[in-house]
Amino acid sequence: MSKIKIAELFYSIQGEGRYMGVPSVFLRTFGCNFKCAGFGMPRGEVSHEATDIAATHTMIESFQKYEDLPLVSTGCDSYASWMPEFKDLSPMLTTDAIVDRIMEIIPHKEWREEHLVITGGEPLLGWQRAYPDLLSHPNMQNLAEITFETNGTQPLTLEFKEYLKDWGYKNGRTWCQGLTFSVSAKLPCSGEVWEEAIKPEIVCDYEQIGYTYLKFVVATEQDIADAECAVAAYRSAGFEGPVYLMPVGGVESVYALNNKNVALAAMKRGWRYSDRLQVPLFKNEWGT
Ligand code: SF4
Repeated sequence: MSKIKIAELFYSIQGEGRYMGVPSVFLRTFGCNFKCAGFGMPRGEVSHEATDIAATHTMIESFQKYEDLPLVSTGCDSYASWMPEFKDLSPMLTTDAIVDRIMEIIPHKEWREEHLVITGGEPLLGWQRAYPDLLSHPNMQNLAEITFETNGTQPLTLEFKEYLKDWGYKNGRTWCQGLTFSVSAKLPCSGEVWEEAIKPEIVCDYEQIGYTYLKFVVATEQDIADAECAVAAYRSAGFEGPVYLMPVGGVESVYALNNKNVALAAMKRGWRYSDRLQVPLFKNEWGT
């Protein structure tokens, strides 16, 4: 039986993108190929919030569980899902144990309206080999909608792609109805390098088997200009899906600074706006 290292598993409403407002189970896998230390910082600078927290954690082992960790206002807001210093807070669980836990937290003990979000970290890094075991579990048979929240840099393996095609045709569905790739491609404001973050061919490949959209986190005019360049690159590779702009800000004070401007910028370009409902509703606390 396969195992997956799970940073968080919780039930909430989806706060972003296509399924905003939909009751959802979030499976946050451990591990990421990026750091995104530039979010919320002046261009060229990196946040030290998470590394400072990690130093404290390592020295005095002050955090026993995820919920004890401080929230950050700069850098990656899910830092504990990939920083090695926090790996002990993320248990390696069998797919059976994951499904048992899901059955405990969803209201009807079966899939009705709920959708599954597989997020991270970067959920398509190494766990693709384990997802078929998870999704083929008898208690997952009624699940009709899955979103992979990915940074769009990890190619699908041939085996997993074939599995997802079969899954997509299950119960009379057509392949793309229930399968979504929410691609949060990282612009330079994240602190990541363009050539490593903008991978149009990989995202076009997702689009071959599932509903795929781009979602850019932006704060400034420069970020929006970068998003335009990235969209041009994806379009010239053949990408046809929608584009969202989403305001930067895991904490309300930062998010509220630019959400209206980001909405206006999206409208001007004929793009979509994505809110971050988890920020005003739940203050972006762990487990939301
Ligand atoms: S890709 Fe996502 S999880 Fe990974 S460091 Fe960036 S924001 Fe965090």
